[in-house]
Amino acid sequence: MSSSSGVHHPFISEGMPLPGGQFGLLDSRLDFRRLPSPFPYTLALPQERAEALLEQQALELGATILRGHEVTGLSEGPDRVRVYLRTPDGPSRIEAAYLVGCDGAHSTVRNNSRHQLPRHSVHRARLARRRRPR
Ligand SMILES: Cc1cc2nc3c(=O)[nH]c(=O)nc-3n(C[C@H](O)[C@H](O)[C@H](O)COP(=O)(O)OP(=O)(O)OC[C@H]3O[C@@H](n4cnc5c(N)ncnc54)[C@H](O)[C@@H]3O)c2cc1C
Repeated sequence: MSSSSGVHHPFISEGMPLPGGQFGLLDSRLDFRRLPSPFPYTLALPQERAEALLEQQALELGATILRGHEVTGLSEGPDRVRVYLRTPDGPSRIEAAYLVGCDGAHSTVRNNSRHQLPRHSVHRARLARRRRPR
């Protein structure tokens, strides 16, 4: 998705591609160069820079970023959603046509939405290893 919209360019130009890496308890290194991807590597980029680049792109697209504003609840109307906030200046609220919940595993948006999604916990991770033929 980011590749077709071109938003990846500043990340690629600032980051350092790492074509291989070690994962977990594997005893051999992984070679990403063999992946069928235009980006066959891990891109090393400090989180601070990644966040700054994302913020810059969001602002250029017309987003308003409200720091220190916590969503505390919401109510859904037929064609609007009202979002209740805790802000540095006290409680507030805003209205919008859409609300997208990107607020993590304990999402306030998801927990207060009428549109519940099925949730599944993942307790185990599996690593596959292919043995070389003898
Ligand atoms: C120790 C650790 C190591 C990890 N290592 C890896 C790894 O190596 N590779 C990997 O792929 N994944 C890793 N993960 C998992 C990865 O961090 C998460 O899957 C990913 O961050 C989830 O992204 P997200 O945007 O859904 O949620 P988050 O990254 O949790 O972002 C949610 C955002 O919403 C904000 N927010 C929350 N509630 C509200 C509210 N009520 N109002 C306003 N804002 C709110 C939060 O402040 C936060 O900024 C790791 C996780 C942990 C804890």
